[in-house]
Amino acid sequence: MFTKNKADIWSDFLIYIQERCSAAEFQNWIAPIQVAESNGDELVLKVPNIFVQEYLLANYKKDLAGFIPVKTNGSLALTFVISEEVRKQPVQEEAPPAQDNLKLNPHYTFENFIEGASNQFVKSAALGVASHPGKSYNPLFIHGGVGLGKTHLLHAIGHYVREHHKKLKIHCITTEGFINDIVDNLKNKSMDRMKRFYRSLDILLVDDIQFLQSRLNFEDEFCNTFESLINQNKQIVITSDKPPSQLKLSERLVARMEWGLVAHVGTPDIETRVAILQHKAELRGIRLPHKVAFFIAEHIFNNVRQLEGAINRLSAFSRHLGKEVTEEVVENTLGELLQHNPQKKVSVDNILHCVGTLFEVRVSDLRGTSRLKTVAFPRQVAMYLAKELMTDPLMKLASAFGGKTHSTLIHAWKKVSQQLLSDENLRNQIEIARRNLEE
Ligand code: ADP
Ligand code: MG
Repeated sequence: MFTKNKADIWSDFLIYIQERCSAAEFQNWIAPIQVAESNGDELVLKVPNIFVQEYLLANYKKDLAGFIPVKTNGSLALTFVISEEVRKQPVQEEAPPAQDNLKLNPHYTFENFIEGASNQFVKSAALGVASHPGKSYNPLFIHGGVGLGKTHLLHAIGHYVREHHKKLKIHCITTEGFINDIVDNLKNKSMDRMKRFYRSLDILLVDDIQFLQSRLNFEDEFCNTFESLINQNKQIVITSDKPPSQLKLSERLVARMEWGLVAHVGTPDIETRVAILQHKAELRGIRLPHKVAFFIAEHIFNNVRQLEGAINRLSAFSRHLGKEVTEEVVENTLGELLQHNPQKKVSVDNILHCVGTLFEVRVSDLRGTSRLKTVAFPRQVAMYLAKELMTDPLMKLASAFGGKTHSTLIHAWKKVSQQLLSDENLRNQIEIARRNLEE
């Protein structure tokens, strides 16, 4: 039945699959599989545990059929054996103290985190949790887009706790890391030890929980760890690119994650972007005139990581050439990093017309001062849209709403952001408005 050497078949399959899965996936799940010696008419694969076997079949059965002959009964000519070598591997002694494993980025501290309207709330929640672990919000769930400071805040909590609560046992891990931990411990038959370790923590920081989606086996283990810690009032902090309700995770876990405080990190407004640029420039010892910082902030608006990239490039440039950083230098060195013609130019007038139509309210009422709910709420939605879609300073935006203050605008933005988390109807309305305004 086999026309080709079995080892060759497997290496062909490896080449094929390597291009179709992530490096981490390959490393964790595929690489540990070996071809066992056999004379029969089946390919025998040696796997470190049953999970690897299930993983392979659940994800790649169809692909395998392209490489391995199919028997007359329709099943693949493939069997598995659990590797004895792995079974016999000595179980390691007690895990080293958690503190030594804390892989925190030394720059990600509260001191280095620049505050603005988009992140004030989440920063104060993070600081609250770091000051009184297990006693304020539990869990604290931080969500927001890429490069907006979620990991930074998570590590800041870690640094703070390490400094101020030396006795507390803290562990900071990415979701990938947690999954790898489970895989390793399954391999070493040391799940009990791993469970003991996680359940003995005072604070668990978990980054990027979205990677737990569709990893069913691991979700259960995570949920159990989570419940055990929360039940003992041990602090948990989780970050994610989406709010809990939008994660494809079990209802049980989603409900648990909503138990405490769900806080959003938004895109920073232009003043905050300028402040971040100046802070980063200062750290790297380059002089960045305010006008130039403003120019960069106007053209890079949706990701703090890119702002940082801009400063890194400018710093290399000014170090090599010893030149003053001017707008011209910025345009020449940053080139494609700068986003020209950001969106269609959205104005407060456009927003008011759009919201007026959507909620059937007159534009003059939206600009006015009526507190009737049918007017006040659409007005808050308009303010929310202005802050989200426009890059003008907040003061200027607020006054375009008929002389409102900057804090009224922020209040409106917070209120609508909060309501968006649970109100699907509102989410749809805002999506429609956004599309209308930007296209
Ligand atoms: P995320 O985890 O949300 O994708 P990160 O926390 O990795 O984003 O942040 C990306 C980069 O931007 C990091 O270098 C971080 O230090 C920086 N950064 C993000 N927000 C801020 C802020 N408010 N102040 C200073 N630096 C920030
Ligand atoms: Mg991150």
